[in-house]
Amino acid sequence: MQTNRRLASNHSLDYARQLAYSQNKELVVYEGLRKDYPWNSKRIHRFILEGIIENQSEALRLGLNFWAFVEDENRQANGLLKKIAEKASVLVTDDFPCFIIPEQSQKLADKISCAMLAVDGNSIIPFSQFEKFASSARILRIWIHKKFPNYFSQFAKPRYTKKDFEGLNKGTKPPFLNFEITRERLDVYLENFIFSHDVSPNEKIQGGRKTANDLLDRFIKNKMDQYALSRSNPNNFEETPVSGLSPYLHFGYISAEEIFMRILQKAEPNGWDIESLSHKKAGDRENFYTNSSSANHFLDELITWRDIGYLYFFKKSGFRINLSDLPDWVRKNLDKHALDPRPYVYSREEFENAKTHDDLWNAAQKELKITGRMHNYMRMLWGKKVIEWSISYEEAFDTLEYLNNKYAYDGRNPNSYTGILWCFGLFDRPWFPERNVLGNIRYMSSDSTRKKFKMNAYLDYVNSLEGKNDSLFP
Ligand SMILES: Cc1cc2nc3c(=O)[nH]c(=O)nc-3n(C[C@H](O)[C@H](O)[C@H](O)COP(=O)(O)OP(=O)(O)OC[C@H]3O[C@@H](n4cnc5c(N)ncnc54)[C@H](O)[C@@H]3O)c2cc1C
Repeated sequence: MQTNRRLASNHSLDYARQLAYSQNKELVVYEGLRKDYPWNSKRIHRFILEGIIENQSEALRLGLNFWAFVEDENRQANGLLKKIAEKASVLVTDDFPCFIIPEQSQKLADKISCAMLAVDGNSIIPFSQFEKFASSARILRIWIHKKFPNYFSQFAKPRYTKKDFEGLNKGTKPPFLNFEITRERLDVYLENFIFSHDVSPNEKIQGGRKTANDLLDRFIKNKMDQYALSRSNPNNFEETPVSGLSPYLHFGYISAEEIFMRILQKAEPNGWDIESLSHKKAGDRENFYTNSSSANHFLDELITWRDIGYLYFFKKSGFRINLSDLPDWVRKNLDKHALDPRPYVYSREEFENAKTHDDLWNAAQKELKITGRMHNYMRMLWGKKVIEWSISYEEAFDTLEYLNNKYAYDGRNPNSYTGILWCFGLFDRPWFPERNVLGNIRYMSSDSTRKKFKMNAYLDYVNSLEGKNDSLFP
């Protein structure tokens, strides 16, 4: 398990299980964690370890042979997977198109002699099924709606029982000491680590599948009905009708398929099936999956907007994308405005410590720094302003990548990069009038945000966070 860190609704596990039965082999599930990944911090590490601990007890319940390896000062990950693969007949892993995963998988495949297969369980439609990347959400939505019926019937097994793995655990021991730390001892354990970045965990955001399911339950029960109308209205996370699921999707604690089914069960209490799709509305964001506007809106974010970022990476595959990946019209536009005078210029440190002249921008940055998440509307405004207030576009991109990936639980994801590049015009169209610095890129401002929404609740919320965490902002 590299990126889909769950023992349910998991295409890689489904496939490995079938192979094990058909070849009469033992099935070993390996979950590992290195300590040296970029932007490593106590915040991210704790979130992953909480998931590993939960997977260990679930594996016990299912009778699976589950090996968990966590690198620390005494235990090195180098060469470990190669050693494990020497005894394997096939290695099945998760396909993920960004951050360290593509290179890591390629290097491993080059080193081992057994077959290695990467399974794409990232979304609902496998990304290999699209011939090219989509230049806009409108285009991808049409492709997804057309292909959707073929893939609905191929969802992964939603949950397993002990019987599903009967005979597959022959008790082979791992060539290392299994990770054996309880949740209660995690803080003490983490004290022994030296992380590249000093970022504290948010006690309210716990890693693992149980929290993901709880969040989804709460969203469906209390928030979903308001999603279409109010998701963009910045507020306290508890009040704002968004799910908070992106970190859980990023680490694969929950799958898009499961979320999809749960949303439709709520939207159509008398039952939803493939016949409920409105084929005549293919390409229509409001009306395709169900009659509920909120459910359609949410599913469009979950499937179209999330997938457009993944698809972009699947067609390029690499650690990151950057300004050179922007469409021609944007690059010409940036060239034209590169030397425009900036209304304000801030350094990375000033941005990081929320020291700009703009209290809304500062609030968004504080929310990110303290909690590890940022309201989606504020995230767009936040990105746009860093572009306007940086000495160059390149510096703006670097600052956004650094802040997003260092602090956000959902960072280091395809949508981290496509979200940042969306602020530069990716997947968007030219907007008029042409402006200073942004040119024809869509403009957003704190003043218009204040006119659109009552921002006091959001500012009060961030102030309350700060009160509890003064030390973060010297
Ligand atoms: C500058 C910038 C940076 C971003 N960085 C990230 C990132 O690092 N990781 C990340 O997952 N998303 C990122 N996004 C996209 C978006 O902000 C988040 O996915 C969303 O805010 C997550 O909150 P939620 O889970 O409560 O979303 P909900 O509104 O509850 O939506 C459910 C799911 O749909 C998907 N989704 C929702 N909105 C978007 C969107 N605009 N784009 C893509 N997918 C979406 C997410 O997977 C989300 O979990 C970024 C956007 C911008 C503008």
